[in-house]
Parts: sequence; structure tokens; C-alpha cells
Amino acid sequence: MRFDDLPVWREADFRGRLDWYRAVSTNRLPAKYLIAARVPARCALEAPEADLWHAFDARTDEFLCLRDAIRGGAALPCERVRPSLLDLAAELARRMLTHCNFCRWECGVDRSVGAKLGACKLAAETRVSTYFHHRGEELIYRGRGGSGTIFFTSCNMRCAFCQNGDISTDRLNGEAITARTLATMAWQLRTEGCHNVNWVGGDPAIHLHTIVAAIAMLEDLRPSGADLASALPSKADWFNDQAAAHARYAGCFNAPQLWNSNFYLSDEAMKLLRVLIDVWLPDHKFGPGRCAIELARTPRYWETVNAHLLKLRDWGEDFTIRHLVMPGHVDCCTLPVLDWIAAHLPGTPVNIMDQYHPDNYCDPGNVKYQERYAPLARRPSPREIRSAFRHARELGLPFESLSYERNTTGLRA
Ligand code: SF4
Repeated sequence: MRFDDLPVWREADFRGRLDWYRAVSTNRLPAKYLIAARVPARCALEAPEADLWHAFDARTDEFLCLRDAIRGGAALPCERVRPSLLDLAAELARRMLTHCNFCRWECGVDRSVGAKLGACKLAAETRVSTYFHHRGEELIYRGRGGSGTIFFTSCNMRCAFCQNGDISTDRLNGEAITARTLATMAWQLRTEGCHNVNWVGGDPAIHLHTIVAAIAMLEDLRPSGADLASALPSKADWFNDQAAAHARYAGCFNAPQLWNSNFYLSDEAMKLLRVLIDVWLPDHKFGPGRCAIELARTPRYWETVNAHLLKLRDWGEDFTIRHLVMPGHVDCCTLPVLDWIAAHLPGTPVNIMDQYHPDNYCDPGNVKYQERYAPLARRPSPREIRSAFRHARELGLPFESLSYERNTTGLRA
């Protein structure tokens, strides 16, 4: 069965949603990066950063006009231009690294020098822990060919219960890679039949400079044996059926970009990603109280994530939201998060995840365990899971397709 024919697309939760992503994934429309490469920058890349931003904002408007025309049936212009809006995005990400404001910490450190590190504990180097065809993502992302997932090391949040703690808390995990190696990984996953390129971590925002540079290379990339040799040590699976046809739009390499993130990023990062990302998969974890501080040492979480989610709504982007039900945090986190989504983003598909298990600093069997997280050293009770589902149903949120398909407890509202 083809990706486009999966019955899940006929379910009420997705009707009229995610159409852009689905069309790019099946090569009926071009990924945004192909469009951004055809919008002239009209600005020298050597210009001061303020001028680059001015040009970027103006060219984003042109990008949106072109995207809408293409969505309406216009052809993608044949040739990419140089410098383009895509080149501008890569240059801006490179400049941002020198006073890092990739994420909401806005540390302002010069990561290109690396003498001082920010909250993510990174300098300029990007490391990939692993990449593979992910078969555990939601069906709309994993399809039959898998979601082409690339896991980056380190993180800008400190969730005590992190279920990827081996990656997110170890900044030296994995292999150091260049932007070209990263582009090779994305190219390989897509030509092997993945339905998207899934940027995740830790959090991908802290590697923005490498990711944007890699995306800017994708269209012209013809990986050499040396490129593949540099990527493959991190690959966790192997497929022999590489086929360019999996990834072709009007003769160009085509791959939808999926941003799988804690959404604790900066406004500037969101602006860059707007012209690159075809579908968004943000978390919404914590309510408006002190839980983000106490469990993740993250200030201004609620207002930051909410503001970015409102941007997605206002920009007309394709997205779904994930919320992990945490033990003892239904009243303070789950219910307010669901209330906020229903009030501001009605109709947005939500995956209410029931698979929380004690991990990282919350796992008594882990050497990192800390006694102060003892209340999180258990799974959510059936009552907590059911109350999350019931509340979502009462609010009329479309959550059942995403939440029930692979939930681990088998519980329902
Ligand atoms: S990515 Fe975020 S945490 Fe890391 S240095 Fe930049 S602003 Fe700070």
C-alpha cells in the first residue's frame, strides 16, 4: 500500500490537515527548501547581520507568494538562484552561532570559538548519535517506509525523566559530523524510501547551523563513496533498495523536512525554519506553574512554547502536538496543556502519550537517580491516563487516531 493510500488519512482527525506534508512526501509538491532556493536573496551574504535579517523578512514574503502559487498548480521555477533565500538562511544560522540565540536561553556566547559554552554545553561541533528508519513514530510519519530520523546529541532542556537521556545528557555521544555528512544521511534515508527527514535529539535547535547548511546542500548533493563512508558508522539499519524515484519532484531531490522538537527555541530560529520545514512535531509538556522549572530547569517554558504554537497556527503550517502524561502531573500539566490547545488550536491533532516510564534521574535503577525525583519513579496510573483521554474527549480535541494507535497501556477514555 502506498503512503498516500494509508487508511489513516481518511480518519476524521486528519481530514483537511497535513495536506502540504503529505503532498511533499509523495512528490506531488516540492519541499520548501526547493522553493526557498528559487527566491533571490537580493542581498550580499557579506552584509551586516541586521541587513541580512531585513532581506530575509522581505524575501520570506516573496517565498510565501511563490509557495502559494505552487500549491495552486504553478510550476517550480527550473533553476535555483544564488544567493537565494535558502543561502540567506544558512548564512544567518552561521552568524547566529557567533552570539548564540538558537534557542530561548539566548546565551549570546560565541559557539564558533567555543571558549564559553551555553546551556546546551556545545561549541560549533555537531554530533549525531544515530540515524535510521524510525518505525515507532506516529503512522502519519512512519508510514510503511519509516520516518528518516536523525538523532543529535545534547539538549537545551534538563528534563529529569528524559526518555532519551543517554543522548540528551551526554554531549559527546555519537560521531562528530560535517554539514555535508549530515546532508548525506538525510539523502540516504529519503532515497531508501523514508517518508520524511525527521530532525530530533536531544533537541535539533541547538544544531541549527549544521542542519540549515545541510538542507541547503540537499538539492545538488551527489554523495560520493567518501560521503557515505563518513555517514554510515552512525546508521542503525541498512537497506539495499535505494531509488532516486522515492525523492523526485520535477527532476529535483525532494524530501519533506520534519521538525521534531521541544519547541524551546528562539523567535529567530522559528523565522529561519518557517521557509524550510514542511511539517512540525512539537512537544507540549508542562503546564503554566513551576513544573518546567522543577522538572526540567527551564524558565519561561509555557509562554515560549505557546507563542511558537500560535505562530504555526497563524502561518497555516502543518503540525501535530505530542503531550506525555507524567505521573502526578495530570492536574498541573496535562489538563492545562489540553485546555490551552483546545482554546487556541482547536482541530489540531494531539498525541497524548501513555508510555512514560521512570528513566534518567527518575529511575531508581539508574546510577544517575536522584531521590528528589522519587514522585516520578513510577508509571502513570490507569486512572491518570484515562482522565487525560477523557478530558481531551470532553474538549473535542482530535486525539484518538494518534493516541490509541500504539499506546502501551491499551487504555481508552
Ligand atoms: S543553542 Fe540555546 S542553550 Fe545552546 S548556546 Fe545557543 S542559546 Fe544557549
